[in-house]
Amino acid sequence: MSIKSATMSPVTTACLRWENSAPISEAFDDIYFSSEDGLEESKYVFLEGNDLEDRWANWSTPGSKYFTVIETGFGTGLNFLATWDLWDQTAPSDCQLHYVSVEKYPMRGEDILLALNKWPHLADKLTLLLQSYPLSLPGIHRIILNEGRVHLTLMWGDALSSFTNFSGKADAWFLDGFAPSKNPDMWTDLLYEQMARLSGSNTTLSTFTAASRVRKGLIAAGFSIKKRKGYKYKREMLVGNFTPQELPNSHTSTQLCAQQSPWFINRSNDAQKPKTAVVIGGGIAGTTSAYALSRNGFKVELIEREGKLANSASGNPTGVLFTKLNPEFSLQNYFYQQSYLHAIRHMRDLSSQTRAAEVLQWQQCGLLQLSFSEKESRLQEQILASGKWPEEVALPVTAQQASDLSGVPQSSGGLFLPQSGWVDPASLCEALLYKNSNIRIRCNQHALSLSRDKSGQWHVFDKQKQLIASADIVIIANSTDALHFPQSAHLPLKSIRGQISLVPATKASAKLKTLVNYDGYTAPDRNGYHCIGATFHPKENCTKVRASDHLANLDQLNRACPELYKMLNAAQSLENIKGRTAFRCQTPDYLPLVGPLPQFESFTQDYAGLRTGRLKEKYPTGHFYPGLYINTAYGSRGLTSAPLCSEILLSHITGEPQAIENDVVNALHPARFIIRNLKRRLV
Ligand code: SAM
Repeated sequence: MSIKSATMSPVTTACLRWENSAPISEAFDDIYFSSEDGLEESKYVFLEGNDLEDRWANWSTPGSKYFTVIETGFGTGLNFLATWDLWDQTAPSDCQLHYVSVEKYPMRGEDILLALNKWPHLADKLTLLLQSYPLSLPGIHRIILNEGRVHLTLMWGDALSSFTNFSGKADAWFLDGFAPSKNPDMWTDLLYEQMARLSGSNTTLSTFTAASRVRKGLIAAGFSIKKRKGYKYKREMLVGNFTPQELPNSHTSTQLCAQQSPWFINRSNDAQKPKTAVVIGGGIAGTTSAYALSRNGFKVELIEREGKLANSASGNPTGVLFTKLNPEFSLQNYFYQQSYLHAIRHMRDLSSQTRAAEVLQWQQCGLLQLSFSEKESRLQEQILASGKWPEEVALPVTAQQASDLSGVPQSSGGLFLPQSGWVDPASLCEALLYKNSNIRIRCNQHALSLSRDKSGQWHVFDKQKQLIASADIVIIANSTDALHFPQSAHLPLKSIRGQISLVPATKASAKLKTLVNYDGYTAPDRNGYHCIGATFHPKENCTKVRASDHLANLDQLNRACPELYKMLNAAQSLENIKGRTAFRCQTPDYLPLVGPLPQFESFTQDYAGLRTGRLKEKYPTGHFYPGLYINTAYGSRGLTSAPLCSEILLSHITGEPQAIENDVVNALHPARFIIRNLKRRLV
């Protein structure tokens, strides 16, 4: 099923009744866990059933740094907390737990607290879970806990449609979707086929049920299944492991995954696990990539052309964490909305880390999206009517409420985004690398060419062909400068000039407490200035700060928020206004480029049939440069997009569970333009 049909319908939260302080689902009339000793049962059925303590204590997967549990039915999160607890006690400290769980009816945070507060030794973990627990918005939500040691990927939606659009490999399955008699949808052959697609040779499973239909279905999908004594008074339960050679039907794993076109499957993936990386570019894209890699245990060299980090588009003094809400579903809107929610969790996570918090400057001050024109008012009405957005994301406000919230008079109301805020981008880049022993920063190094030797090592050279750095993999994250490398020269990257104005604050304007957004934006006073942005000039390469651009920025403000404009303007003349020009890097479809780099010549040969409309032909998988990746083209939304894009990039590199649906991964895929251009006969 495509993401569209899955994410149009809002998520319904669980409707519960309580017996002996344990929750029971009204819809399924079944228990989430035994009211007597739910935790012990969870440990017996799922942790022991998959032999996790032994597998983790005697970690035996050479080179692998992560272990993936996939669960059907997140419910209260009890299984998750029990797993995390055991992970802390037994798994090697440099390894990561990926816990992926699907849930059609997410429980409200208050209910989870009520259900699980009887286990005090899990209280700290429960608090951390609830602090990052996602809103009831459909789709995939990635939560990073314990400084990256635990990745929780929650899919709010139906199990079958969610798995069909997902990539990853389970090391252990927890099948916990209510009794098969009460919830047959969680125990279907189609679901078992998806499980088989998401399993590998070391995958195990366990479940509380011993129903013969379940046992037979799992066997038919390729699992060897054994019965085992059930917990306490229960007679039997099932455990098993995946034995792919016994897969009886003709489906290949690619056929089962609707979204996997052959050209997006990387045939060049090395069997060797990479351990070292060079990241080219010291802006938001590069530093966020380096940070994600370093957490995963990579040794990273970060190459920056200039003398310091965050020079170009990432160098403005104040950036905005923001998403443009939209009543309509599109992959693009969905990607930006999920990135926004992820970026907010990422910023909170960073601020809770002692090291990063020392240098990070940001404030979750909220953003007022002014209803400043008839068109914008209509759009906001449609957004509210769509019923998609809870008030935690977008709160409708009157002009009076807008004035109270922002601290300055407003003549129009609008939508208030309480989770939004400003970030000092340079401080963010620094915080990501600060005292990080896995990352070495190399400034004043201008990478201009790349090559891979026979042993598989990549080498990066400067203009004089001097070697700058070598590593197993290279990430290109240097904006339109990526066009200098022959391997990425085919990408359709455009540069768009933008100028911000730094306008001195006055006594009255300094009262502004929130961001104000319209066609442009104005930030609260920082260090005596308001950052007002930004102009948009696609075809210009002038680097000078121009008075005409200041006037354009101020004019936009005046049209949307004349009160604030007056407060500022009274004390201004243009000479007092400072500014900065930067160039955004953008693709024609306004989405970033994240993933492996395709070999242009091979692609045009392998998929030449697309030029003549042969879409259904049996094509080979994609030919990519082994170990060469790109993460760039964020336009003006780098702060919001980079954290999620870096998670997506890491999954491309390591094969870890993806942080978002396959069709979004493909929408960001660096091979998309060659394929589109072949279909349009443009290449
Ligand atoms: N593992 C949970 C825990 O630790 O609390 C208990 C899971 S409970 C027994 C089963 C869960 O499956 C419920 O939360 C239910 O809402 C969810 N569920 C039922 N049908 C579903 C479906 N078709 N897709 C996804 N989740 C579903």
